[in-house]
Formats: sequence, C-alpha cells, structure tokens
Amino acid sequence: MSECIWNQPGSLAETFWKNGKADFPIYDMHGHMGAHYAIYFKICEAPEMVQHVKRIGVKRLVFSHHEALWGSVRNAQVCEICKQFPDTLRMYLGIIPQRQDFIKEDIAQFDKWAPYAVGLKFLPGYHGADVGDSRYEYALSFANERGLPILIHTWGEDPSLLKTIQKYPNAKFFIAHCCYGAWDYAIRCVKESHDNAWLELTAIPGDRGIIEKLVDGVGSEKILYGTDMPWFDEYQGVGGVLAAKITDEDKLNILSRNPERILGKDF
Ligand SMILES: [Zn+2]
Repeated sequence: MSECIWNQPGSLAETFWKNGKADFPIYDMHGHMGAHYAIYFKICEAPEMVQHVKRIGVKRLVFSHHEALWGSVRNAQVCEICKQFPDTLRMYLGIIPQRQDFIKEDIAQFDKWAPYAVGLKFLPGYHGADVGDSRYEYALSFANERGLPILIHTWGEDPSLLKTIQKYPNAKFFIAHCCYGAWDYAIRCVKESHDNAWLELTAIPGDRGIIEKLVDGVGSEKILYGTDMPWFDEYQGVGGVLAAKITDEDKLNILSRNPERILGKDF
C-alpha cells in the first residue's frame, strides 16, 4: 500500500488542514437526529446539524431519526424534516421489528417520500434481534426487490449477517461500524457477498490502523464514510479518514465517490 504523508503539499489532508473544509463533496452515510436519554448533545436538531456539516463540506447527510427507531416519531414526520433541507438531508426509514404494522405502512409510502428516503435502517442489537430474525423479512424482501441500501448496526460478529447478505443479493448492505472488533468477519461479509455489501466506518476513525486494515482487506471502493452524528463529530470523522495511511484515491472513494456510484450522482 502506498502511503500518503498527511502534510505533503497539495495532498487532500494538507489542503483540508489549511482550509478547514473539503474541496470535494463529502457524503456522511450514517447519521442520526434528535435528543437521546443517554447523553447530552449540543447539536442534534436539523437546522444546527445541517449548518454544522455544511461548514466542513458535507453534501449529503443520510440519517435515521432516534425517535423513528423507537416509534415515538414516525418516518413520515422525518420526511417532513428532510423537506426543509432538501439539499442536504436524506433518510433511512427506521425499521422496528416489533412493529410490523409500521413497517408495512411506511414501506407502502416509500415512493411518496422520494427523493428523501433512500433506504432502510436496522438496529438489531438494540431491538433484541439479529439480522436473520424473521421479523426483518418483509423489509429485506422490499430492499431486495428495489436494490435499496440497508444500513445495519453491527457490533462484533452476528453469524446471521453474512447468511442474510447472501440470501438477498439485490439488497445493498451497509455494514455500520464494520462489525466493530470482528474486523476479519466484516471483511468476509464483503468478500463472500454478491458484490452487495460495503463497510461503513462509524466509530472507526478514532482507532489507529483499522481503516488501513479494512482498505487492505476489501479495497477502498467497498468502504463508506459515516459518523453517527451527533454521537461523533464530523470533524473527528473526516480528520480520521484524511489522516489514515492510505492513498488520496482511497480517501476520495471513501468520503466522496462510493455513495455516488451506489446511489447516483444526485441522490
Ligand atoms: Zn448509528
């Protein structure tokens, strides 16, 4: 792997350190929104979040609202928030396995929510399920039919993840947090997929050496950038990717090009 020296004149990192802003469009593919009982967020509502991420050069923030993952706010309401910031916000429909009624109602409205709704979000661990749980089948079949992304929260190894990726070859699996800690399993999930799985970096940029390992394992074309914003800050995330010992081409793939390849240039 050829290394990029962070302060090399004209490099992405050097330019960013100098300007405090990227001169290419950044796609943050893993965000949230709204307050959370477990933590204090200074910036967690749409107007402030949009203003903050635009400062650094984020073109699109694709998020799932905290409350939509618990059912106290519905996906339809989240779409109304997106409409107020059409240039920046896109959403994943929060999928709650215990609420098949919500899943069916919301999926029936998916087309109505274009272009804001771009995919689905699963939070298996928090919902007391694994990805192979039958209560995800309806949503998985829909994503598979349409070729839609599903951002799946992972942490450690869930043996049903790889089986599910293989069972739904047209769905696009975004593996959030790269099965944090189970790096080799995450790499396997991409390599043994039908070219329908990507690793998403939330929580990784603070760990030295992991981005390099993942790029080495699957190639930068299969890696997506995300922050969990507001849980992690946009500057920490971008800084971590730009400071990694990978090439500028790799960095552009991760921060900018891959989402355009998957979802189209102006999704
Ligand atoms: Zn998240």
